[in-house]
Amino acid sequence: MKDKIIILGEYQQDKISSITLECISAAKQLQGEAEIILLLMGEDRKKDACELQQYDVDQIVLVEHPLLSRFSNEPYAKALLSVWDQLNPAILLWGHTDIGKAISPYLSEKLDIPLYSNVESVEYNEKRLFLTRPVYSGKLIEKIEVNTPTFFLTIKPKKWKASQKKLERNCTIRSLKVKIDKSIPTLIGLEQKKQQTLNLEDAKIIVGAGRGIQNEEGFALINQLAKTIGGTVGVSRGAVELGVCDASMQLGQTGKTVAPDLYIACGISGAIQHLVGVTSAKTIIAINKDPHAPIFEVADYAIVGDLFEIIPALMKEWDNP
Ligand code: FAD
Repeated sequence: MKDKIIILGEYQQDKISSITLECISAAKQLQGEAEIILLLMGEDRKKDACELQQYDVDQIVLVEHPLLSRFSNEPYAKALLSVWDQLNPAILLWGHTDIGKAISPYLSEKLDIPLYSNVESVEYNEKRLFLTRPVYSGKLIEKIEVNTPTFFLTIKPKKWKASQKKLERNCTIRSLKVKIDKSIPTLIGLEQKKQQTLNLEDAKIIVGAGRGIQNEEGFALINQLAKTIGGTVGVSRGAVELGVCDASMQLGQTGKTVAPDLYIACGISGAIQHLVGVTSAKTIIAINKDPHAPIFEVADYAIVGDLFEIIPALMKEWDNP
């Protein structure tokens, strides 16, 4: 029987997220003779499955259950354990996202299978498999040799090219039944926070706010700049600690990893834990009053000065070029 690589499809606002397409690219590099299975969990996923049929996977497996309608740790973990038992794959692959980070350690411990997390690249060399991933907040890249046939993998978002549709063929779709005990804790609802802005991971322009914004007035200025130039607001831990914005907007080691075309860092010093989440941006502009701020070492354009003077001037220039 062929080995199997299973990708857990992830959703964002009910649309398949780009990380899943990035997982397909990673799976293709690991594939060898193995079969690639895209696993879609949730409720009423058949339409999604049909839309995804033209991607480069061998099979789509649907696991539908009312308790899986939205992501929640316990039901998802139980369902994945059941899928693991039934399909017996060699590799289970998903994004190093909130979902991947929440359930992969649990499954790894439960099944006693190694987990390689936040992987940036894979390489076969004379049939030996090597993985790389950032360690020590991105200061070093670790290269690991995988010496077990079975393992879990989470991939670093935006480090892999999203797979494209292959229009010439449709893969098969099949359903798998799982039993989930109704007594486990389940999610009954989600309340969207008002402050949440556009999806940061897919934003083309991000304006970053750091502790230098000082207060709510400074944060309003950042929002105004983002609105003026059609961007989305992301923040540093420093800004979160000011209490003016939500931690879900944080970029960096313990926040989100982004790769916009343009990142404008305003009043952000450039700590390594922040940089690890933003240095995949194509162009970085930094505004900081300290000419020695480390953010300038990674910036393509450095603006030394007070953000409360520079941002209004930038917006004026934008409106009247
Ligand atoms: P600061 O370092 O205080 O920098 C503020 C900057 O604003 C300074 O450079 C200053 O010169 C400038 N400034 C001040 N006033 C103005 C003005 N008027 N105009 C222009 N510039 C001005 N941080 C993250 O961001 N994301 C993470 O995911 C993250 N994870 C972490 C995980 C761990 C385990 C640890 C230990 C830390 C983590 N941190 C993270 C925190 C990180 O180390 C830094 O403390 C944080 O990034 C600093 O935020 P900041 O640059 O906004 O603030």
